[in-house]
Amino acid sequence: MARDYYEVLGVGRDATDAALKKAYHKLAHRYHPDKNPGNSASEEQFKEVTEAYEVLSDSERRRQYDRFGARFQDFKGGAGFANNVGDVFSEIFSDFFGRKNERVRKKGRDRIFPLTIDLMTALKGGERELTVPRAMRCEACTGTGAAPGSAPQVCYACGGSGEIRVQQGLLSVSKKCSYCRGRGKIISKPCGVCEGHGHIERETVLKVRIPPGADDDTVLRYAGEGEPGDHGGAAGDLKVTLRVAPHPVFRREGTDLFCDVPVTITEAALGAQIEVPTLDGKVRMKVPAGTQSGRVFRLRGKGVATSENTDAGDEHVTVVVETPHALSEKARELLQALGELEEPASYPLRTAFRRDVLKSDG
Ligand SMILES: [Zn+2]
Ligand SMILES: [Zn+2]
Repeated sequence: MARDYYEVLGVGRDATDAALKKAYHKLAHRYHPDKNPGNSASEEQFKEVTEAYEVLSDSERRRQYDRFGARFQDFKGGAGFANNVGDVFSEIFSDFFGRKNERVRKKGRDRIFPLTIDLMTALKGGERELTVPRAMRCEACTGTGAAPGSAPQVCYACGGSGEIRVQQGLLSVSKKCSYCRGRGKIISKPCGVCEGHGHIERETVLKVRIPPGADDDTVLRYAGEGEPGDHGGAAGDLKVTLRVAPHPVFRREGTDLFCDVPVTITEAALGAQIEVPTLDGKVRMKVPAGTQSGRVFRLRGKGVATSENTDAGDEHVTVVVETPHALSEKARELLQALGELEEPASYPLRTAFRRDVLKSDG
């Protein structure tokens, strides 16, 4: 890169600072990597013009360059510049590609509210109300933030741009104006209602529509209902994160439901029609004779139908044999009589256990 810096920028050796800057802006714009994606030649040219401008825009280094030519770096040690082209560029050009406005105009933050719902609401959908703060334009000052009868003044420190240029080494860098905090305006008499914010927060009741099939961590998003943006930036979003409270009867796994149903010893031993809860109310289910505690019965299609999956899952009913307690005299006598009648063939598990594990007979 032994090209002459003046030649690179296309200016004469007597070019003024303004002329250098103008030439650089033009070339940097033309060769900027954003405008020539994947074009390594223009990227090289971009670096070349930036390096040339860096040197020539600094009066001390320009003097050295004029005196020693390309070898001037040897006298300066050569280090410490042109290795941060990106930084230099973004600082010099903060206002060149419209980045200034992006920095000042800030999108509001998202607001996140958790909402606990019961399983039935999660499965079937429904509507719930949630009280949330909502930013509204302050009517007293019509959103300007200035007391009625007064108006915001253009910041005299930055002239309304919200930025101040400061000399940092060889560069002129833009900094957020500390006087108006980047707003570009000064409100000397703030509105008493909104304290100068231009908006006020009101508790509002949000009707949250819960879609059928909602689950833990389902997020409902309300665009633009979050915190208001700064300086005309868009408002953030309001997000409601759903949490499904544990249900006393049903457990859910995806589209399948699980529940335990207690039965008596006689229902399990003799077989019975028992009542079982489902999402659509109770149904009758046949328990065959000799049903063991813990056996699972499947009710097809009695699970959950989510909106994106129209096929409902199944309900899995676990039959749990409840051993009777607080027996009546009569029941105790009958059970004792039953005990005397018990035969090893009626209890194959127990019989095998006693024979093979305990090594006892009978
Ligand atoms: Zn200012
Ligand atoms: Zn106000």
